[in-house]
Amino acid sequence: MNSRRNFIRQSGLIAASSLLPFPSGAFVPQRKLGVALAGLGYYSTDLLAPALQQTQYCELRGIITGSPEKIPVWQKRYNIPDTNVYNYENMYRIADNGSIDVVYIVLPNGLHAQYSRIAADAGKHVWCEKPMAMNARQCQDIIDACERNKVKLSIGYRMQHEPNTQKIIEWAASKPYGEINDLIAQAGFYNSASDRGHWKLHPELGGGAMYDMGVYPLNAARYATGMEPVAVTARHETTRPEIFDEVDETTIFELEFPGGVTATCKTSFGESINRLEVNCEQGNYWLRPMQSYTGVSGGSSDGKILKPFGGNQQARQMDHDALAILDDKAVRVPGEEGLKDLRVVEAIFESAGKNGVRVKL
Ligand code: NAD
Repeated sequence: MNSRRNFIRQSGLIAASSLLPFPSGAFVPQRKLGVALAGLGYYSTDLLAPALQQTQYCELRGIITGSPEKIPVWQKRYNIPDTNVYNYENMYRIADNGSIDVVYIVLPNGLHAQYSRIAADAGKHVWCEKPMAMNARQCQDIIDACERNKVKLSIGYRMQHEPNTQKIIEWAASKPYGEINDLIAQAGFYNSASDRGHWKLHPELGGGAMYDMGVYPLNAARYATGMEPVAVTARHETTRPEIFDEVDETTIFELEFPGGVTATCKTSFGESINRLEVNCEQGNYWLRPMQSYTGVSGGSSDGKILKPFGGNQQARQMDHDALAILDDKAVRVPGEEGLKDLRVVEAIFESAGKNGVRVKL
């Protein structure tokens, strides 16, 4: 082990033990968890690996990739030894690698279930990106694999770790503006679709706006109400049918919650949308944007201001998830969260495929 890594380990040791909520004076054996990223595309390269340089309770120690040309670049940039480099065929051998504690699945959506299972069967904790998988059955398979192997499972819903979003979640329970009547949740961006071969345009790998961005408004509708929807109606819209002939460009869906609460939601690869608005009996509040990497901010009808959180969302998420492992506590966003969303996603596709018929959940 080189001196740089030793230094990082030691500084992590001090930081973790000084910040953990243990009784004063208690000796707290603590270490940084080793994370291996599976899939070195955009999100791993631009967001997760840089964030893992800021985390206190975990660090980047391994990579799993099918692209040999990326290996020397990542090894050099992040000081990753040969022993911690895997491909998708030999990934199961990570079971023998004591320096890797967590495998973070950052692959196309259609591959999450398969590789989460391999990671769990190797005895590693699993962090799995959103959407958890393609359908509820695959989500249950991942949950079962993690339970069988006694490893923890977290889904990469970073918003649930973001402070202003956590305020919205808190308000769903404390109801400072009275009962919620309805909400609007939207997330989308203009996908120029310049690379027609990209998996986000292909159904078998989980392409389309609903899987990619639609889980943000869906998850937001659930956490902002604190309830599970009882029925859904949905439709797809397309402005570029020549591109979006196999996956959805835009999906509009309405969720019905108990007590007549409704959520009007939209996701799109055709326009930039990013907001959450919650209307209550005695006022309303909002986040605009509601799911950007930085600058999530909002306010309320009585003048409260939700200022942007200045930290790194991904580092905060991974530190929360690492602490849950180190302390053997429940994770903030367990597999059941992903499963609940995928159950609704399936109903959304069913409704949209049947001319917007109301589908009960
Ligand atoms: P990407 O296309 O940039 O990266 C995917 C990686 O998977 C690539 O390196 C690619 O080489 C690899 N791969 C392995 N097998 C493949 C196959 N059969 N076909 C295609 N690629 C294959 O995608 P991304 O934007 O990094 O997204 C990866 C995951 O991360 C997705 O599940 C996405 O939803 C999620 N994501 C989450 C956030 C967030 O904010 N939480 C943001 C972006 C992406």
